[in-house]
Amino acid sequence: MRFIDFSRYCERLEAMSGRLETIELVSEMLALLTEGELPVVVRFVTGRIFPDWSPLKVGIGPNLLYEAVAYVVGEKKAAVVEEINRTGDAGKAIEHLIATKEQTSFFRTELETTEVYQEFEAIARTEGKGSQREKILSLRKLFGNASPLEARYLARLVLEELRIGVGEGNVRDAIARAFHVDSASVEHAYQAINDLGEVARLAKQGEEALQGVAIQLFRPVKMMLAQQGTIAEMVQDHGEVAAEFKYDGSRFQFHKQGSTCRIYSRKLEDVTDALPDIVRQLLPVVKADVILDGEVIAVKEGKPRPFQFVLRRFRRKHEVSSYTEEIELVPHVFDILYHNGQSLIDSPLRERRVHLEKVISGFIAPQLKSSTVNSLETFYQQALDAGHEGIMVKDLASRYTPGVRGKSWVKIKPEVDTLDLAVIGAEWGEGRRAHFFGSFLLACQDKGKLLPVGKVATGINDETLALLYEMFKDLIVSQSGKEVFLEPSIVFEVGYSEIQQSPNYESGYALRFPRFVRVRDDKRVEEIDSLDSIRQRYEKRS
Ligand code: AMP
Repeated sequence: MRFIDFSRYCERLEAMSGRLETIELVSEMLALLTEGELPVVVRFVTGRIFPDWSPLKVGIGPNLLYEAVAYVVGEKKAAVVEEINRTGDAGKAIEHLIATKEQTSFFRTELETTEVYQEFEAIARTEGKGSQREKILSLRKLFGNASPLEARYLARLVLEELRIGVGEGNVRDAIARAFHVDSASVEHAYQAINDLGEVARLAKQGEEALQGVAIQLFRPVKMMLAQQGTIAEMVQDHGEVAAEFKYDGSRFQFHKQGSTCRIYSRKLEDVTDALPDIVRQLLPVVKADVILDGEVIAVKEGKPRPFQFVLRRFRRKHEVSSYTEEIELVPHVFDILYHNGQSLIDSPLRERRVHLEKVISGFIAPQLKSSTVNSLETFYQQALDAGHEGIMVKDLASRYTPGVRGKSWVKIKPEVDTLDLAVIGAEWGEGRRAHFFGSFLLACQDKGKLLPVGKVATGINDETLALLYEMFKDLIVSQSGKEVFLEPSIVFEVGYSEIQQSPNYESGYALRFPRFVRVRDDKRVEEIDSLDSIRQRYEKRS
């Protein structure tokens, strides 16, 4: 498929809002693709270039992109940034700039979707000295050959934000429809291999190819997630349940085969090199080929340390050793997905726990099995007293459902009102905080648009401020005075005392006493709270 045809589909999808018509149009597009094109286009249409688990990253921040575009249109970078600030949409701004330049350029080769992908892959593989320059040259080539509409979607792909409202759920349904296969088989294959593009390719081959898919070592599986709930409800629904401490750290998945292992983060990134101490602790004591699921927590002098410490270690690529001395990490394993060639995701938790206890003795999260509310409440109190966040209560009969935030796992923790919001801007701090951002501008979403709802500056200590600066510094789009505009890519969980109506922010609402709780490293910007949910919370309270 030519990239212009893909772009035209994107344009039609962007203008649509209905779920059914979206699925129909995506399915029409998928039916046109060859087996070679399917993996690429399926990832593109959900705003991804590589599968989540792939170590490849395009690694082009807004700055590099704007520089390349500026060259192609014969302008200064500042002019590109100005246009983006004016339209508030990098894709459309770049489309407009390319359209203006178009009148003077005659030579263009047509872009194919697979060629665009290969170019991205080459960019991702460029490393070391001079790599920035090479990346810019590749981008210039791509944008030099792009028509205005193609440039809109190329830019958004580079920034990993396609904004056409096509979620993974839509694509799963579209795959089933395009290739006349059962949507349950599509779902099952997706849970196992975690790459919709590959699932689409298999679906084209037929039902049998899909059925043959199983989870594999060194291909991370999406993590099962939890909902909020109550002890009483869980006991009422399931009788005997399993309860474990809810550790406040970072999720990890441990894959081991023979004497090698890899560790993946909640976002399925390979973080093995950043966590040599976890490798040292687990590798010698795990007695089989396995995939384990658990939480890593930070400990100092025997006491759990806040989650921020763990995040810092997960993000560390250089000088790992000096950090391992400062912050000790300890794994707590609570599930097993694979044991010596056998997938366990369809086995009930009760059986998985038996496997888990066979493969390691230490590092397992203690589990209380009980059917009485009283003893579970005592356990909850013990967890809080020991400094943990609360407890997880799990249905012993449930299977492991990758990526699903279901009712089989329920979290019990003290009530706090929080929202998950995208960080879209910041302000430089003052005094000793002058080299860091002191406050952050937050936005909710409304049908793909990001709308500001407030700023947060409270609840962030100096150490976290430094960490946040490191995370945001490559996402700066532009500055004006002390204000900085950031590419929306990071999600904060923010507490507040009240939601008020307010003319100061575009959303029409503002948070009273906003307080930083944590970085939601498991959430993408598309998953943040919506304007509707803020409105509902506001109406419920008044
Ligand atoms: P939340 O992030 O508040 O939605 O809570 C779910 C998260 O709690 C999981 O994704 C894990 O990272 C974490 N967690 C901590 N302890 C456990 C446990 N024993 N079982 C499952 N998840 C746990």
